[in-house]
Amino acid sequence: MSNFTETICGISTPIGVGAISIIRVSGKDSIKIVEKIFIPRDKLKKAKGASIIHGWIKCPECKKNLDEVLLFVFKNPLSYTGEDMVEISTHGGIVIPQKVVRLLIQNGARMAERGEFTRRRFLNGKMSLLEAEAILNVIQAKTEKGLLIAEENLNGKLNKKINILKKDLLELKTVRKKLKDMVASYTRGKILLDGFRLAIVGKPNVGKSSLFNTILQEDKAIVTEIPGTTRDLLEGIIDLKGYPVILHDMAGIRDSDSKVEKIGVDKALQMVRRSDGILFIIDGSETLDKADEEIFKTVAKKPFILVVNKSDLKKEIKDVPFTGKTIWVSAKKHSGLDELNKTIVKLIEEIIPDHAEEGPTCTTQRQKEKITCAIDSLDSGLKAIKKAKDLELLAFDIDEAINSLKELTGEITSEDVLDNIFSNFCIGK
Ligand code: GDP
Repeated sequence: MSNFTETICGISTPIGVGAISIIRVSGKDSIKIVEKIFIPRDKLKKAKGASIIHGWIKCPECKKNLDEVLLFVFKNPLSYTGEDMVEISTHGGIVIPQKVVRLLIQNGARMAERGEFTRRRFLNGKMSLLEAEAILNVIQAKTEKGLLIAEENLNGKLNKKINILKKDLLELKTVRKKLKDMVASYTRGKILLDGFRLAIVGKPNVGKSSLFNTILQEDKAIVTEIPGTTRDLLEGIIDLKGYPVILHDMAGIRDSDSKVEKIGVDKALQMVRRSDGILFIIDGSETLDKADEEIFKTVAKKPFILVVNKSDLKKEIKDVPFTGKTIWVSAKKHSGLDELNKTIVKLIEEIIPDHAEEGPTCTTQRQKEKITCAIDSLDSGLKAIKKAKDLELLAFDIDEAINSLKELTGEITSEDVLDNIFSNFCIGK
């Protein structure tokens, strides 16, 4: 248990005239050293964990008995220091204890430093630093009341309280992590409840409307060979592995002189910005041009899948120059659709944070905002703890965090919030 190689000794009672003096010896050789200067009734080595032995201290040089003593033997770890220890109780006075110490030093011990017995007790894990300080307070106490609080701390009162607080602070971090997970779960909640908005983007005539119809398995969008046919935004929903995917078909993006088509292109660009992901369609039967590259610049800002359409025709595109997920399909012949659907699911799941399915799911923007406020307050509190100042602000921050959570559950609420939530219900509900 001990980290120390040396055995130490020291007089533990005040030097002066008195009935008895106690000399402490601590360390792995303490018993061996004391044996050299002690004539016991019984062998010291046989002493039990904590025992008292009667005998005499002898002077090995002058062969005389120096004093009749009692040895208190404490075997590791049943001692004050947590090491093997012997306390020699001699007669009091100045000469005998000092002579015993000298003998101990001559036989291998060294003089203990100030507080070294207690320091070893602390370092051997037998008490906390707070208790070590309490020992000093007990020794130095000047009144009974002073002694009382010192003894309370010696019994670990302050230490226990600090340990509880430490646990609370650790829990604060756990709470923060759980709240963070809840905020992250909003992405999944929003996708599952509101749907994943997937915009079909590309030049005119690459087959966007055809793909839209093919994925939805209905003829919703008008398909013609005339570029610029689709002007309005069309939308349709499909269920892909439980995810509601809202497909948006829209005008092909190109410069146009037609006023109506221009409006369509503007709407399309707005939709690209609002979308959660994009199917970027190019025509595999034609070589790529500047227009495709321009569209790619817009598309690449979002999670996207590159769909090379018209795979039933002669391939003009060999190496696709755009990095990202690439799928070859034929909207006309309905080929490559399974793989496309799987890739869409993959795209969605890459956006959803890991383990999102394990915890509760946050489903509204309001919930997300309240939890984020609680996290911000906790962060500010944790920062105060770290700096070990502004601690009075800590209580304030924790209150703020609790208030945000109360607002979240509706314990604290305002008319505005209630109006906002309940206006979304139907009349009869
Ligand atoms: P959009 O303008 O991008 O919406 O393109 P459309 O869906 O209106 O299609 C434009 C033309 O390409 C139409 O004549 C379609 O029949 C044709 N087309 C669409 N997809 C395919 C395909 O996979 N293979 C072939 N061969 N033609 C296609």
